[in-house]
Amino acid sequence: MGLFNQGTPLDWPGICQHKNKAKMDGIEQFLNVYHSAKNFREHDLKWGDEIEYMLLKFEPLSRKVRLSLTAHHILDELQKEENAQTQATLSMLWRPEFAKWMVEGTPGVPYRYYVADLVNVERNMMLRRKRISELLGKNETVMTLTTFPRMGCESFTSPVTEVYDQQDGSYFISDKVCHPNPKFLTIVQHIRLRRGSKVCIQLPLFMDESTKETQPFIPNESNQQVLLKNCNRKVFDKGIAKKVSHTTVGEGFDTPLKQSLVMNNSIFGPGCCCLQVTIQGRDISESRYLYDQLAIMAPLMLALTAATPAIHGSLVDTDTRWSILCPSLDDRNPIEVSSGLLPKSRCSSIDCFLSDLAQCKADIYNDIPIAIHNEAYNKLIADGVDHLLAQHIAHLFVRDPLLLYKEELDKDNSRSMFHFDNILSTNWNTVRFKLPPPDTDIGWRTEFRPMEVGLTDFENAALSVFVVILSRVILAFNLDLYIPISKVDKNMEVACKRDAVRSERFFFKKKIFNSSDGSKFLCGCGQIHDASVIGGQKECQDMDMKRFVERNSRSDLSCDSMSDTYELMTIDEIFNGRLSISNESRGVFDFPGLVPLMRGYVEALKVDGVTRGKVLRYIDFVSERASGKLMTNASYIREFIRSHKAYNMNSVISEEICHDLVKHLQDITNGTVQAPRLLGNFYHESLGVEVETPLSMVELMRKKWEGNQAGLLLGATMPKSVLWDTMVSIAKYKNQRQCGY
Ligand code: ADP
Ligand code: MG
Ligand code: MG
Repeated sequence: MGLFNQGTPLDWPGICQHKNKAKMDGIEQFLNVYHSAKNFREHDLKWGDEIEYMLLKFEPLSRKVRLSLTAHHILDELQKEENAQTQATLSMLWRPEFAKWMVEGTPGVPYRYYVADLVNVERNMMLRRKRISELLGKNETVMTLTTFPRMGCESFTSPVTEVYDQQDGSYFISDKVCHPNPKFLTIVQHIRLRRGSKVCIQLPLFMDESTKETQPFIPNESNQQVLLKNCNRKVFDKGIAKKVSHTTVGEGFDTPLKQSLVMNNSIFGPGCCCLQVTIQGRDISESRYLYDQLAIMAPLMLALTAATPAIHGSLVDTDTRWSILCPSLDDRNPIEVSSGLLPKSRCSSIDCFLSDLAQCKADIYNDIPIAIHNEAYNKLIADGVDHLLAQHIAHLFVRDPLLLYKEELDKDNSRSMFHFDNILSTNWNTVRFKLPPPDTDIGWRTEFRPMEVGLTDFENAALSVFVVILSRVILAFNLDLYIPISKVDKNMEVACKRDAVRSERFFFKKKIFNSSDGSKFLCGCGQIHDASVIGGQKECQDMDMKRFVERNSRSDLSCDSMSDTYELMTIDEIFNGRLSISNESRGVFDFPGLVPLMRGYVEALKVDGVTRGKVLRYIDFVSERASGKLMTNASYIREFIRSHKAYNMNSVISEEICHDLVKHLQDITNGTVQAPRLLGNFYHESLGVEVETPLSMVELMRKKWEGNQAGLLLGATMPKSVLWDTMVSIAKYKNQRQCGY
């Protein structure tokens, strides 16, 4: 998470006093960058991942495991090299994250357009993990675990933090676990003050054979009674501690909530770890198009990476952190919620598509209410920004700043980006459209943010590389994944459900090639190809592109009349394709699937066999997860808990179960235990890879590849011949599948 300015944070009344000016300053800052960077052209592909790491401490004698509140000390060490600036390029960079048990690591410089860079990703991740490991104390460990199953339970941190004070009013998590950078605590407190109450996170309990309908939220009855007594003494309300009587641990609810798990501190959400990928577009238009397409992919990648079946000491009936994250960062007051003025939390799936490409017709898919800041919108339009971009920015600016530094109030808007970045970085959406920072050679970027983090470096590298290759395929084939945004929202809901990959179906476009009838598609080489080639026919027709675009830009399509353009599909079908079952067209792809397109693309890349093999392994792994052959982390963890000998079939995760689970997951990460149902054989094959040194990694990341080795990850710039090879590979792959290889 960016933006770590130093300064004096204003208190909430101070923010309220200055927020309107701060917002309009933010708009001016946007306009300055927009006008100077809107004509950027031909930026190369650059990209990078962000991994949030979790620090834990085992207590082997008592078989307990706790979240270790040491990240701020470890971070000081990790950032030493960067702060000393003795070296221009570092192999990795480190940033603080919300809680004292988290640190965020990224590659030191972004990866480039070389295929060869894709095989550095896993090595870089291994190096990062090793670097943190070197700084750990006795019995401490670093893991890429999305959610600690006992977050919010009694004594879940090491050292133990006392819960329940007047400020946070939560007897589950204390604000004291926030990373000491004032940004985090300020955000947590101001969310509470803005909405006038503690946040309310409510998840459906997983109802096992013996689960009580009114499950205690802390699985320790005596402790619960003490906390209830405390709670009845003082309850936080609108910033004032007042006496209220509560009969249930569902704090804030006067009647016991049935079959629900309630949490009440913002930290529950961003205290979970994730994996993000940022991709630089060739120009602003390409980034806007990728933003839309990746927003549609977000629920699918969330379901595929699901890793949160348990939190707060309980099994829940959802599988992802997303259903915790959105309510935990929801700063809306009751009037904004009940009036529909702000239909969604500032942490949510996106509300409007953004592409300005004529053939995309993005606007007709924007079918949900989009709250906008009118003054901002009018200023943007008056300054020459087009409707869709102005709408997107003005939509971000309906949110108030949660943080303002005194020192930033009167800065020159032509030199500072603080007020814009401040609003952007506290709109926590599934994708984020990022501006070129002034005075750098960085271009327009799209950040892909929905994924939960995987346990192993192999898994996280596979997911990151998958997203990058998918982005290349979207550009190379000019894919049109658009469905109404209300259906993307629906998909987000479905993605959070238990075992969504295997049990649910998602809305997806029937014909993803950008063409009016779906039989032809306009590709990045500027030609129209006959899509039947994917069924094996070798036809490739030149057509007049202008005529195509004209024919295609009919404006008579509306959201209502497009319901036959999408359908419900399983993740397996969307990713791996669906062969037709009708007799006439048996064996032909009824829906081509994203993975065959990606495989075709990789086959056609100019690259040595070893590198190609590694990249294909990553795609194969995601493909097997999508097919349901491999389990998600969420399913695996849920199954481990339910089959533990100490589990009483009541959804409760005791200290002992939690300890054994985390130990088991740590052993999988280290490779000392195999988990074929989770990772197949993929991970063990990659364990032999030597960990680089920071210096050798820097060399690899800087190396200018030449000749045969310099294969490029082409997108919209893909030459005709490569595209044709891709098509042939897809047809070959399809035939193999048909013949049962
Ligand atoms: P955030 O805004 O989420 O704090 P940063 O912008 O610091 O994140 O970095 C996020 C990721 O973007 C990192 O993995 C980094 O390597 C990568 N990155 C940095 N520069 C570029 C670039 N020009 N294009 C694409 N990705 C980049
Ligand atoms: Mg982060
Ligand atoms: Mg990020």
